[in-house]
Amino acid sequence: MRAALLTAPGQPLEQVELPDPEPGPGQVLLRVRACGVCRTDLHVRDGELPEPKLPLVLGHQIVGTVVDGGGAFADGARVGVPWLGWTCGECRFCRSGRENLCERALFTGYTLDGGYAELAVADARYCFALPDGPSDTALAPLLCAGLIGFRALRFTGDAERLGLYGFGASAHIVAQLARAEGRRVFAFTRPGDEQAQSLALELGAEWAGASGEHPEELDAAIIFAPAGELVPQALAAVGAGGIVVCAGIHMSDIPSFPYELLWRERHIRSVANLTRADGDGLFAALREHPVHTEVEVHPLEQAEQVLARLRAGEVRGAAVLEISPAAGPAAR
Ligand SMILES: [Zn+2]
Ligand SMILES: [Zn+2]
Repeated sequence: MRAALLTAPGQPLEQVELPDPEPGPGQVLLRVRACGVCRTDLHVRDGELPEPKLPLVLGHQIVGTVVDGGGAFADGARVGVPWLGWTCGECRFCRSGRENLCERALFTGYTLDGGYAELAVADARYCFALPDGPSDTALAPLLCAGLIGFRALRFTGDAERLGLYGFGASAHIVAQLARAEGRRVFAFTRPGDEQAQSLALELGAEWAGASGEHPEELDAAIIFAPAGELVPQALAAVGAGGIVVCAGIHMSDIPSFPYELLWRERHIRSVANLTRADGDGLFAALREHPVHTEVEVHPLEQAEQVLARLRAGEVRGAAVLEISPAAGPAAR
């Protein structure tokens, strides 16, 4: 099969031919139709996350059709593979509904091979059956940007005035979910990023501007951008009792800040990974309120260039690799 392969952190992905993967017990074999490109892929590629499997096929937002369902899925079914690829089921986190924190968890496109390839294998228990209707490329960003965003949004409780810092793949989905829940959305971007600001306004944000501006006091903020200096900025923007949720897997150091910014029961928390229950919750929410995913579609051969676009902040919405497009309705 064709694949884009990371052989060493900091090195460009290589376009290679690999032997077809063979599914083990409990695994499904998928023909990859589309795979979303996540900022986490960039962090792995750039060596900002420790100890990836090497060599590694990146990609943890896989939309595929089942070639061998191993009894769990019908052949030809369309399924999604997310970041959480395997958990132990035995540790204190797994036994308390927090499999996202499992100490032995394996992650798709990081410690397991992912979806920047024509074929992929995945543990059937962690795959999601996908709804009919949306295209493969439209669904792909839901499998991480959507899932992590959904989990982050839940941590904001009943916050009405919601700030989103960094308006990319995840925020553009969260903005729509938040609007459907009757929240008010404020989008904070890099100064002058008119592309992201216009997308935010199109998708229901009532205000879009530069981080550091203060349109109105917020009840909660979610930070998607990997910039630690946004934490004190967001704390300054939320009112008493407000929460700042850091949704990324990697962030630059947070500068020190006066205790006054945390005082009056403001709090900060991170979001780590996802649980399968998050996926069930997201897909249930989407049945009631479908969202539009804004995607730019590229071929597998462009994987390295797409990561460069993401690094440069040039992607509007989400980037997706289209790998083996279905030929038509009969082929899907
Ligand atoms: Zn565990
Ligand atoms: Zn991701």
